[in-house]
Amino acid sequence: MLVGISTGPNSRAYALTLVIDFDPTVTIFGNAMTPFDSAPYGASLSRSAVITDIMDGLREDFHNISSPLIPSGKQLDINFELGTIGDGGVTANGDSNYFYIAVGSANDGGAPLGEAFGPPSIALPVNSFAPGTTLGAIYTDQIDNLVVNVNNAFETRNLILGTLSHEIGHTVGLTHCAVAGSTTPNGLDPVMATGAIDLPNAARLNDREFGSSCNTGSGTQNSIQTLVTNLGLADTPVVPEPTTILILAAGLAGVRFMRHRVA
Ligand SMILES: [Zn+2]
Repeated sequence: MLVGISTGPNSRAYALTLVIDFDPTVTIFGNAMTPFDSAPYGASLSRSAVITDIMDGLREDFHNISSPLIPSGKQLDINFELGTIGDGGVTANGDSNYFYIAVGSANDGGAPLGEAFGPPSIALPVNSFAPGTTLGAIYTDQIDNLVVNVNNAFETRNLILGTLSHEIGHTVGLTHCAVAGSTTPNGLDPVMATGAIDLPNAARLNDREFGSSCNTGSGTQNSIQTLVTNLGLADTPVVPEPTTILILAAGLAGVRFMRHRVA
């Protein structure tokens, strides 16, 4: 029925859904974790606005990749939802293949910015763990400790999103890239770059993208090809024009109103 029409990119079950929890209580290793704190990014940015920006950025990083490997009208078959670890997949949009990613504060030993199950110890965690497992986490308090001056909402988004997309990249089979010697579609730094190799902390304020040729130090990985191979492609959802939705909604409201009148 028309009432059931979904209009966004989350309108159907994908091959894989990652549920992002900004209010986690434990790290991927079961240590204490506290909810995402947006206060360090300034009072002018509400927590919900920062979270919305991050979720939009996540979908952009994975769904808007310019590459000949992803034809027009197609996108990676992965979906992202806001939700709560342990909710049993109720936020996974009917997708039975769902996993959690935590965003919050913690020192999980050695103060990593984030961590995830991934190569080389586990090639493809989404195929190696039971659905419902928390496969990755990022620790924004540790990111804040990098002492970079965040100037606006876009830099705030990039600072957090870079590590979030990076950890998710590990869970779907990606390894680290050096910035030097790597190639990306638009010349941005690779998502899989790391401070442990050559990514300067100040560069975390910039947008990043997955690499078409990633210098792993011992060879190359085409991050985009690996994503296509491991996730597959799906049709890009068609989003109705806003006017169509409004007309449709108005029409439905009219129908309901009339039915009430005759009831
Ligand atoms: Zn990493």
